[in-house]
Amino acid sequence: MIYFVPLHQNLRIISQIMILDKIDELLKEVQTLSAKNADEVEQLRLKYLSKKGEITALMNDFRNVAADQKKTVGMKINELKALATERINQLREECANQETTDEAVDLTRTPYPIQLGTRHPLTIVTNEIIDIFSRMGFVLADGPEVEDDLHVFTKMNFAADHPARDMQDTFFVSQHPNDVTKNILLRSHTSSVQARVMEHMHTEDGKLTAPIRVICPGRVYRNEAITARAHCFFHQVEGLYIDKNVSFTDLKQVLLSFAREMFGADTQIRLRPSYFPFTEPSAEMDISCFICGGEGCGFCKHTGWVEILGCGMVDPNVLEQCGIDSKIYSGYAFGMGVERITNLKYRVSDLRMFSENDVRFLKEFESAN
Ligand SMILES: [Zn+2]
Repeated sequence: MIYFVPLHQNLRIISQIMILDKIDELLKEVQTLSAKNADEVEQLRLKYLSKKGEITALMNDFRNVAADQKKTVGMKINELKALATERINQLREECANQETTDEAVDLTRTPYPIQLGTRHPLTIVTNEIIDIFSRMGFVLADGPEVEDDLHVFTKMNFAADHPARDMQDTFFVSQHPNDVTKNILLRSHTSSVQARVMEHMHTEDGKLTAPIRVICPGRVYRNEAITARAHCFFHQVEGLYIDKNVSFTDLKQVLLSFAREMFGADTQIRLRPSYFPFTEPSAEMDISCFICGGEGCGFCKHTGWVEILGCGMVDPNVLEQCGIDSKIYSGYAFGMGVERITNLKYRVSDLRMFSENDVRFLKEFESAN
């Protein structure tokens, strides 16, 4: 190509033509760029867009373009730069997607806050009960939920015709009409754990190997229709203390300390005579209503008292059944429903809420965790 132009304009025109050719050439190149991985994308970026890149070099050559052509050439360079940037970004994204698909982890994904769970209200209250009795020297004991009749009923002094042994009250896994002690069932109270502890804590002649002071939390099962006030399973915490010279006074003092720790320092207790197969004498314990302070309100049915647990001195028959000499040793036991205590503390009016796993309900106890 020959240009007839004055000499002083020659260089400019030639460089202008060169730059336009170069732009066209690069435009074609950029449109067909390809890369297999992030490293190759980076190489392309260095080649075209870095300080020493080809497009940046064009910007430097732009100085030599004639003033009246600067607008046209400038626009073309900008167009090229935008196209190259877009294409390289596109390649980078494709490679990133490709790599995360390979490793099944999307490192480019925006992080989101992790929602922490909360402890279940029954767990919170069980832990609180355990904590109080631990400080009084009780240790944890645990046992199976699928139990035999021997530990749930026989050793706990339930008469052969006691209604608790009936199908209507207990879930049986297997029944042996000829020998009820072989029946397998879902435990209807955690007293079975007490039986197992007593069995293992004495010598052959009925002497304790150490004083027994245990606390037994756990789930229990009863064959009841599910309503707001009853459920086919619930939770208990039972306590057992056996040693020489254990008296009802010891029991009362421990329960008073517990009530005051659990419900406040002003709490009063009262014990009413009651009956349980495994304790003699037996009592039910009320605490002064912590809402009205004993004055009487709707919550305590205007009595000023709220029932919270059952207790008593371990029946000598139970000690003997479990191999402990009842002439040397005595003991007390108590048991409470965790749902009952939780209802009192947090005013949950419907038992079913505890097993529905409604997050809105569970979140209510976030601050108690
Ligand atoms: Zn009251």
